Amino acid sequence: MMGNRVLVTGGAGFIGSHLCERLIQEGNEVICVDNFHTGRKKNVEKLLSNPRFELIRHDITEPIRLEVDQIYNFACPASPIHYQSNAIKTIKTNVLGTTNMLGLAKRVKARILQASTSEVYGNPIEHPQKETYWGNVNPIGIRSCYDEGKRVAETLCFDYHRNHKVDIRVIRIFNTYGPRMLPDDGRVVSNFVVQALAGKDITVYGDGSQTRSFCYVDDLVDGIIRMMNTQDFNGPVNLGNDGEFTVKELAELVLKETGSSSKIIYKTLPQDDPARRKPDLTLARQKLGYEPKVPLLEGIRKTVDYFKNHLD
Ligand code: NAD
Ligand code: UDP
Repeated sequence: MMGNRVLVTGGAGFIGSHLCERLIQEGNEVICVDNFHTGRKKNVEKLLSNPRFELIRHDITEPIRLEVDQIYNFACPASPIHYQSNAIKTIKTNVLGTTNMLGLAKRVKARILQASTSEVYGNPIEHPQKETYWGNVNPIGIRSCYDEGKRVAETLCFDYHRNHKVDIRVIRIFNTYGPRMLPDDGRVVSNFVVQALAGKDITVYGDGSQTRSFCYVDDLVDGIIRMMNTQDFNGPVNLGNDGEFTVKELAELVLKETGSSSKIIYKTLPQDDPARRKPDLTLARQKLGYEPKVPLLEGIRKTVDYFKNHLD
């Protein structure tokens, strides 16, 4: 779709900044709203001189009045270190922030896409995870502010849809990586790459047998835009890459690709760390023609190149 007025909340963050870039390339007007908690102005630096791009410092837990056609609600810290550092704020961002964005969508009749997460499946008993799976989430643990926050955000979307006919789209994002992740963000791909490049120990939590499915950010952005512009389908839909790797395999791959002499050390597994995770992408393929294209090896190479140029 060409020439929409688009709001991206969390647009100065990792995924949000790639999304803003792509939306500008496609001819849209983009308003990026961010409180710079985990996002950086630098991530959207190249867009600042574009007259179709606007950056607003704003916290979505407060209401905002704008006139837009589409809203991508991505504001929310995504790494466990950051979302746990102020857990109550994480809940407010998901509950009050999402309510504000749905209220805005209702007022201006905009379509709204909510960035949900594979964390709604918790430590999954069903494998791989289909959208019909209701999940296995601890309501009172250290990950709950994020997991339950995102679950309520999904509920809010569907209630605004049922009660106020708001045109919603819900995506469940699985572990995504690539350039512009924060080096100290604590997520596994950035941690391992930064550790390997610095010659520091690679910190595997637990025995490294837990699995994740890693999606390169460009593939994810492709799926996000497909979902926003699809008709008659609200989701939820899984987006990610369905290759499944153990954390130990990831550590070994990063060591090989960086040629680093770092050694792997083992640390305590954090509480409620899911044992395995892999998206069932059948629905995304059927409804959106979505297909992740970047294999882990290639994506890790691009990420290593980025961090080589962006670490002091
Ligand atoms: P990120 O931390 O890089 O980006 C989040 C952005 O939101 C940051 O720019 C931050 O400053 C901003 N933000 C946070 N709270 C805000 C608030 N109250 N008001 C305004 N801005 C606020 O994380 P990311 O990896 O880019 O994730 C983006 C979205 O995708 C998040 O909603 C996250 O939950 C979701 N997601 C990401 C992944 C992943 O693997 N990266 C997986 C599942 C879901
Ligand atoms: N992990 C690890 N070492 C690190 C960071 C993370 O072994 O330095 C593990 C973590 O315990 C989890 C997996 O890697 O099993 C993915 O962690 P991440 O925080 O990236 O994402 P999430 O747990 O939210 O999927």
